[in-house]
Amino acid sequence: MKLLKERILSEGKCFPGGILKVDNFINHQMDPMLMREMSEELARRFAEHKINKVITIEASGIAPAIMVGNYLNVPVLFAKKKVPSTMENMLVTEVFSFTKNRSYSVCVSSDYLTKDDRVLFIDDFLANGNAALGIIDLVEQAGAKLEGMGFLIEKGFQSGGEELRGRGIHVESLAIIESLDNCTIVLK
Ligand code: 5GP
Repeated sequence: MKLLKERILSEGKCFPGGILKVDNFINHQMDPMLMREMSEELARRFAEHKINKVITIEASGIAPAIMVGNYLNVPVLFAKKKVPSTMENMLVTEVFSFTKNRSYSVCVSSDYLTKDDRVLFIDDFLANGNAALGIIDLVEQAGAKLEGMGFLIEKGFQSGGEELRGRGIHVESLAIIESLDNCTIVLK
């Protein structure tokens, strides 16, 4: 998506270890106009799917997910990173965080993710696919159906995209980073 690619090139910042920061318009300050365009594009790319729910993981996935849910007219469920003592009928999985270099539990209530759900996962970044694999596990535990996975930014030099597409999942990314070597952003 041209608009996003331009913003990444002009405002994105590289950090050692292959981290891209887009704090000016996605991860800290958010640009709702860009978010609206990106969400519309993601909704368009999954238009042939019968989606009745969008799912994401807190916190950075929530903004794009709720905008996509708005376009698709469906509810948005976010997996929680802290397991609340009050959650009923909890489904839990473990996710390894690429940016924090540690594992954490994420959970949803099976009151909101059921066998009748056909879900679209939305997240800001796809790197090694660990968050996505955690969501696949929760979807399977619930007996729901995964319709697809949409990302704002995919880091094509990490293994997540290949892993998910290799499983036959419909994956869409609005911008694919080919390399961040020498702290230079190269887009596909
Ligand atoms: P994965 O689970 O695919 O390995 O990593 C995706 C998650 O890690 C995303 O939800 C995102 O929050 C975070 N992440 C991975 N790489 C980056 C990055 O380069 N920049 C930012 N801002 N977040 C990242």
